[in-house]
Amino acid sequence: MLQVSRLASSIKPSATLAAAARAKQLQASGVRIRDFSLGEPDFPTPEHVCEAARRAMAAGKTRYTQASGTPELRGAVAKLYGESYGLSVTPEQVLISNGAKHSLHNALAGAISPGDEVIIPTPYWVSYSDLVAMTGGVPVLVPTSMQSGFRLTPEALKAAITPRTRMLLLNAPSNPTGAVYTKAQLEAIARVVLDTGISVLSDEIYERLMFDGREPVCFATLHPDLPGRTITVSGVSKTYAMTGWRIGWSVAPVALAKAMGNIQSQQTSNPCSISQAAALAAITGEQGCVESMRAVFQQRRDLVCRLLNAVPGIRCPVPDGAFYAFFNIEGLYGKAPGGRKISDSASFCDAALEDAHVCLVPGSAFGAEGFARLSFATSNEEIESGVSQLAAWLSKG
Ligand code: PMP
Ligand code: GLU
Repeated sequence: MLQVSRLASSIKPSATLAAAARAKQLQASGVRIRDFSLGEPDFPTPEHVCEAARRAMAAGKTRYTQASGTPELRGAVAKLYGESYGLSVTPEQVLISNGAKHSLHNALAGAISPGDEVIIPTPYWVSYSDLVAMTGGVPVLVPTSMQSGFRLTPEALKAAITPRTRMLLLNAPSNPTGAVYTKAQLEAIARVVLDTGISVLSDEIYERLMFDGREPVCFATLHPDLPGRTITVSGVSKTYAMTGWRIGWSVAPVALAKAMGNIQSQQTSNPCSISQAAALAAITGEQGCVESMRAVFQQRRDLVCRLLNAVPGIRCPVPDGAFYAFFNIEGLYGKAPGGRKISDSASFCDAALEDAHVCLVPGSAFGAEGFARLSFATSNEEIESGVSQLAAWLSKG
């Protein structure tokens, strides 16, 4: 009998991808689902990026590249950090991977040994705890509250650090809460990091998706000693509507970047050569498309928060970045609008899907009971219809 390994049996499927698959399944059976499950821009990839991919294919760039990515793309990413943040990065510090999720895996596989503790503030993006566990690391979940804007405080960080703590996994703007930090708040966290000697994995994938004029802060820039203990992860998926192209990157101290590159060279070799050419065009080409998409996300954010907050029992804090509304549903507990009782985030999302045909992701998947996540990376029409279906369903209870 072929057995499933201990590792594989301990891993859950990504809750966001699982919810999206469920919505697609119901759609295929003829039910019209308003699908807010996946965090994936609904815009097409900008035309000049697609054109660069076509040119790459025509020029025969269809072979293996260097396992850590093409020199052109690694160089362009290094330059980007200098231009955007004044951070000096060499191409040797950059590893191009198959999406930012793969970059996170490489970072954890490169820096975490079995038994090392990794601090993850909650609510956290669904994949973090499993990604840590897959390296043999121990995820240590540190709760934040809606009242404190879902931000990790330096005190809570300090209290969670033990002699086995190796790393803090920081994500701002956050998926699922949209929380961002001011520079001063991040500096306070940086002081704890430097005082205690832990390292940081900073997932900055939503860095260009900030609202109301906020500017991104690259964590590694906050102190001259931070680049030596920080791995920064980002990529093109969200900024340039390129989720399917699978290009992410990490910036790490040279020795660690090399070790992570070795892992990648044994595991996947290079990311797709054509996608790398497309990503190069995205980050070096005209940037107007980024601002156009950001402005639309901000307008949708305003719409979705206004509509959700008008539904009795729902409280939706206003996210400062990314494209998710993470709203509180505890006011709905005990109701049974379509016959199914709402007692937690999973029962709420199941009932919303079955009875209102609205697909959301339960807060429990993000380590935060009492909430649900709605991705507003979708049209105004979808948002208006979806929230009105939710409201009509809930009004029956
Ligand atoms: N980090 C966060 C916080 C995300 O939301 C995502 C999106 N899935 C990723 C990393 C991974 O991005 P990618 O699609 O480039 O793997
Ligand atoms: N980041 C997206 C989300 O949270 C994509 C799904 C995934 O990679 O799990 O919905």
